[in-house]
Amino acid sequence: MAAEKPEWFERGFAHIWLPYTQMKTTPPPLAVARTQGTRIILADGRELVDGIASWWTACHGYNHPHIREAVQRQLERLPHVMLGGLVHEQALSLAARLCALLPEPLSRVFFSDSGSVAVEVAMKMATQHWLNQGVRGRTKFLAFKGGYHGDTIATMAVCDPEEGMHALFAGMLPEHHVIDLPRDEESDTSLNRFLERHAGEIAGILVEPLVQGAGGMLFHDEHVLKRLRRAADKYDLLLIFDEIFTGFGRTAQMFALEAAQVTPDIITLGKGLTGGTLPLAATIASQKIFEAFWSDDSAAALMHGPTFMGNALGCAAANASLDLFEREPRLLQAAEIGKAMTKGLGPCLGYKGVKDVRVRGAIGVVELDRIANLNELKRRFVEAGVWVRPFRNTVYLTPALTIGEEDLTTLTRVIREVLEESGYG
Ligand SMILES: *Cc1c(COP(=O)(O)O)cnc(C)c1O
Repeated sequence: MAAEKPEWFERGFAHIWLPYTQMKTTPPPLAVARTQGTRIILADGRELVDGIASWWTACHGYNHPHIREAVQRQLERLPHVMLGGLVHEQALSLAARLCALLPEPLSRVFFSDSGSVAVEVAMKMATQHWLNQGVRGRTKFLAFKGGYHGDTIATMAVCDPEEGMHALFAGMLPEHHVIDLPRDEESDTSLNRFLERHAGEIAGILVEPLVQGAGGMLFHDEHVLKRLRRAADKYDLLLIFDEIFTGFGRTAQMFALEAAQVTPDIITLGKGLTGGTLPLAATIASQKIFEAFWSDDSAAALMHGPTFMGNALGCAAANASLDLFEREPRLLQAAEIGKAMTKGLGPCLGYKGVKDVRVRGAIGVVELDRIANLNELKRRFVEAGVWVRPFRNTVYLTPALTIGEEDLTTLTRVIREVLEESGYG
């Protein structure tokens, strides 16, 4: 079926190292020629309906003309300047617009180029915020099982211990505390008991609000976030929300923090920030944190500065993406997608081997007891004309918020059919 591979594939494939991939045993990747809207067009001419939006970054679909034009305009005028000693309109406008969207105390934006770095910056800010006030020994973080905060060394250490490969990298990773989320009164009591003993060594609490994404698409409710805010206040800890997954409409609110009416001290954003076009991330701190760095002493400054920090093309794309959130009913669309996925994926709950079906905003999840042959399942999805990437024991959808009814119906129908064919039905 698959036609000849393009010449560039033959020439380059022996020299590339792919993410999360056992290069020896994993079937070769698909060669992509183009993207458009919610479609991925392969080099051999096949067209896939995209259910993942490239790790949920492409929230307005691929190649959105408004973002494309903004980036083209910026490319002609000013592609990039260092943010050391120089600023430009796109970065400053974006900073102001992000703060206007967030609750008041969150008022200072530090740009970086990837989510993992944004989380590392948040950790550095939190730790130094204490040091600058003369508080020593608060160098650890409290994070949660099922959590995911990135792949760099510092962020691995605050991921779920299995996800973050804590055992394999033991001795190399800084040690933090990873415990159960306070989902109920009982786990809230153990959280408080834990903090009673350890708060003095902890700089902050780090959590993905409402949805733990890459750790398994696990949901929790707003009460969990309220409990964390209460605990952070009680033990004088900073609360950090990692909204790199949940930000920009994924949960059918612009940010997950709105659902809980809980304001963290720091928030991290990435993924959907540029509408899936360019790498850009942000760490946004409260005024209180910023003030801990405001000093006549230069040693109290935040010593961090990625080379491509505040890249003008990325910021132009992000500003254009925010225009689209303002002009078009994205949050409503996310809620509608949720309804359609509840309907389309719901029947899977009756399948044998299906443990759970859950939907929150524009995130749809079918959790299985186990997936015996992940590669085979992936192959069947492609054969059926969709781009759906099951991982571990879950099949999930995080489509573009602009996806049409027909494409979405195709995605949920194919998931039902492929699961049935694969013996789950
Ligand atoms: C993807 C993700 C990250 C890491 O972002 P990168 O850009 O891949 O470094 C961190 N936190 C969460 C919640 C994410 O979903």
